[in-house]
Amino acid sequence: MSYQIAIDGPSGAGKSTVAKALAAKLGIIYVDTGALYRTVGYYVRRKETDPHDARLVTALLPEIRLELGYENGAQQVYLNGEAMGDKIRTPEMSMYASAVSAIGAVRDYLLDTQRSIAERHSVIMDGRDIGTVILPNAQVKIFLTASNECRAERRYRELTAKGIETTYESVLRDMIERDANDRNREVAPAVAAEDAVVFDNTGMEPEECAEALYRLVKEKLGL
Ligand code: C5P
Repeated sequence: MSYQIAIDGPSGAGKSTVAKALAAKLGIIYVDTGALYRTVGYYVRRKETDPHDARLVTALLPEIRLELGYENGAQQVYLNGEAMGDKIRTPEMSMYASAVSAIGAVRDYLLDTQRSIAERHSVIMDGRDIGTVILPNAQVKIFLTASNECRAERRYRELTAKGIETTYESVLRDMIERDANDRNREVAPAVAAEDAVVFDNTGMEPEECAEALYRLVKEKLGL
């Protein structure tokens, strides 16, 4: 049986950690859709283009060819053949991704890439609009969230572990700004689908959260 699991929610809610753990347990593919928006943001930055200028950003889209690959189970995004790796993981790229993601043409451009993967495989996909727009018929929809402070603390630890210099305060500030952009935009705002299970994991360890959601997924899928 082929099935789809959608995990949405704000940044730092632990979506990717949980989704990776569930994908491994279930033996299915994990798709990190944020990486696609980050890659478009990366190209726009490289072209020294204002990421808020819908006309200019839209004009760049035909120059972008995106491919997804998997190396040892980890997703890799290729931009015109170039592996993105951690280049798209900086705080600057987070803000570029958030800006370009509010542009309808960018969302349309990435829609097929996302849907075509889900047509061919059972997937667990994380993002902001997976349950509402990309996979509205997903068998399981989860909206993962946690307090601002908890999410900023996680993001801060993740960035410093990667050697990116930043402060907790600036991570918290950027995160609140980015979440507000994502939630309040006109196209595909980052909100829970009506039929999503909202799960708050404030103060929970990743393993504990993954275990609880694994039980929920098994129950929903009747496994
Ligand atoms: O999940 P991640 O933090 O990597 O996403 C980066 C940005 O990409 C988000 O802040 C959001 O603006 C955008 N995004 C989106 N829809 C998705 C995934 C990400 O708008 N499905």
